Amino acid sequence: MRAAHKAKDKPGMPADNPYIQSLKQAGYRLTQARLTVLEVLEAEHGHITSADVLKQVERINPAIGRASVFRTLELFTQLGFIRPTYIHTSVTPTYVMMHGGHHHHVICTECKRFFEFANCGLDVLKANLQRELDVQIRGHLLEFYGVCADCRGPSHAEQKA
Ligand SMILES: [Zn+2]
Ligand SMILES: [Zn+2]
Ligand SMILES: [Zn+2]
Repeated sequence: MRAAHKAKDKPGMPADNPYIQSLKQAGYRLTQARLTVLEVLEAEHGHITSADVLKQVERINPAIGRASVFRTLELFTQLGFIRPTYIHTSVTPTYVMMHGGHHHHVICTECKRFFEFANCGLDVLKANLQRELDVQIRGHLLEFYGVCADCRGPSHAEQKA
């Protein structure tokens, strides 16, 4: 569990937040539910299950109902702000934020640890797919999986050096 979120009257989101800008541009009102869910997602850097989003939203503003939290998560997924993943559990999705339209992981299948990386170098592939399939691509989620150095044990870690 992270440190308890301080209760606030208004979510402390800067007006120049890119997700807020996108919401406005797409013509969506900045409701308390949308601002609060966004605040929770950003505070956790987006690695958060829907159950934890519910819990934290309730702590910040109990007036926001479960249904509007789920509707907001669906809207944010549709707008490409977040994507559901199943990196922590297969029961409930873990949402990741699609910063700049993409998100990348290398996951250790043994200890479930994951590493983030920024540069995927997929621009050419994206351009080719757009052309071949005639789909306007908005983002991507990339996951590599394998076994990390710790899980392979010291003998393997030395071999690499
Ligand atoms: Zn590992
Ligand atoms: Zn991530
Ligand atoms: Zn990428």
